[in-house]
Amino acid sequence: MPQIAIVGSGPAGYYSAEAALKQWGDEAQIDVFDRLPVPYGLIRSGVAPDHQSIKAVSRRYETTALADNVRFVGNVTIGADVSIAELMALYDAVILATGAPHDRALEIEGADLGNVLGSAAFVGWYNGHPEFATLAPDVSGKHALVIGMGNVALDVARILAKCEAEFAGSDIVGHALDALRGKGITRITILGRRGPHQIMMTPKDLGELGRLACAAPEVEAADLPETGEDALLEPGLRKSVTLLREFASRGSNTDKPITIAFDFFASPSKLLGENGRVTSIEVERTAVEAGRAVGTGETYRLPADLVISCIGYRSSAIEGVPFEEREGRFANESGFIMPGLYCVGWARRGPSGTIGTNRPDGFGVIERIAAEVTPERAKQGRAGFDGLAEARGLDVVTFRDWRKIEAAEAAGARTGSPREKFVDVAAMIAAVRS
Ligand SMILES: Cc1cc2nc3c(=O)[nH]c(=O)nc-3n(C[C@H](O)[C@H](O)[C@H](O)COP(=O)(O)OP(=O)(O)OC[C@H]3O[C@@H](n4cnc5c(N)ncnc54)[C@H](O)[C@@H]3O)c2cc1C
Repeated sequence: MPQIAIVGSGPAGYYSAEAALKQWGDEAQIDVFDRLPVPYGLIRSGVAPDHQSIKAVSRRYETTALADNVRFVGNVTIGADVSIAELMALYDAVILATGAPHDRALEIEGADLGNVLGSAAFVGWYNGHPEFATLAPDVSGKHALVIGMGNVALDVARILAKCEAEFAGSDIVGHALDALRGKGITRITILGRRGPHQIMMTPKDLGELGRLACAAPEVEAADLPETGEDALLEPGLRKSVTLLREFASRGSNTDKPITIAFDFFASPSKLLGENGRVTSIEVERTAVEAGRAVGTGETYRLPADLVISCIGYRSSAIEGVPFEEREGRFANESGFIMPGLYCVGWARRGPSGTIGTNRPDGFGVIERIAAEVTPERAKQGRAGFDGLAEARGLDVVTFRDWRKIEAAEAAGARTGSPREKFVDVAAMIAAVRS
């Protein structure tokens, strides 16, 4: 019976578990570890709180989690509580599905000023990730600046722009809702180094900006290429560019209190501040040549009271696992790291693609394991891990425990919201043990 350890309970982890069930049925034991007492990775802590229909994918993972031979082992950090070498000695195959939880650094002067944040931190704050619950961004200033032209930048801009009533039905955490209720923001600038034809924003998410109750998008018509040039774009991007054209045609006359301005061909060159806090940004105008942004030497400044960079993520290195520093992911060849050790999802590919992109990863790696790994009698698997956990006094959270947390979060929800998340690990554990 193969003993499989999956490290990480996000989409890539649970798609791998699902694939293992398909491959071996009851003939495998599958343990899914997570450093948090709660499962589902970025489905819980990344996907926007006002996109509940997307978060519903977790129901599919729940079906896998409830299979008799699949076990959730929460509140255990691999690489700290238990080493990779120990896990590899216990299980026939270890699959790293640890995602890419850290912000790619914004490498410009002034990036260390106060109220300059990365999207992992800011998104983690409004989604209640325990690591970022105490972030307390200051949203009292007028000017927010979002760096990046992907869907995460759109999420961040939208969350900053929404009025309170628009959060009805969402599970934005109470501390974020309270802070945003008192916000002073009147202008959100989304800054991108390249132009409208190079955005990575999907039409569904971009279209939402045009339907906000308290905010209106602003696009300079002069930034848009000739309409005829859109014909060469792939259909999704063409739709997004059509939306930008529609935003531009609305002009900047709006009775809405917040403007979301798109600033294309704009490369951040330095952040400036007073008393240790950001106050403005210097930007260099760019031109796009063969798809790349090239500086023109022309610079200008924009006021910025809050800066959030949405420029990508990096995985966490784990001792004993080869890591590609530049790409910020584990060194691997189609998911293979070394005999018995594999990776999937963002830990394998880096931070790209949608939730569904992680599915073929999971299925592909299980196919490889089935072909390459011969189960060994000497591997103690689950029983061996339980002995180790007991000897170390680890406070393991099971899937049944998680369901207690889930029920307590649902019970504590404000009216119309599916849940009020616990934002620190101690409170999660208390809900389990109460
Ligand atoms: C802000 C944001 C919004 C997004 N919105 C969408 C969207 O609307 N639609 C869409 O299709 N995609 C969206 N995505 C992309 C989607 O979330 C990812 O494709 C997906 O979550 C990647 O899955 P993963 O399993 O590789 O990583 P993750 O989801 O990050 O899961 C990794 C898991 O590993 C655990 N872990 C990490 N290190 C350890 C360790 N050492 N020991 C034990 N456990 C560990 C973590 O706690 C986490 O649970 C969004 C991403 C972000 C960042």
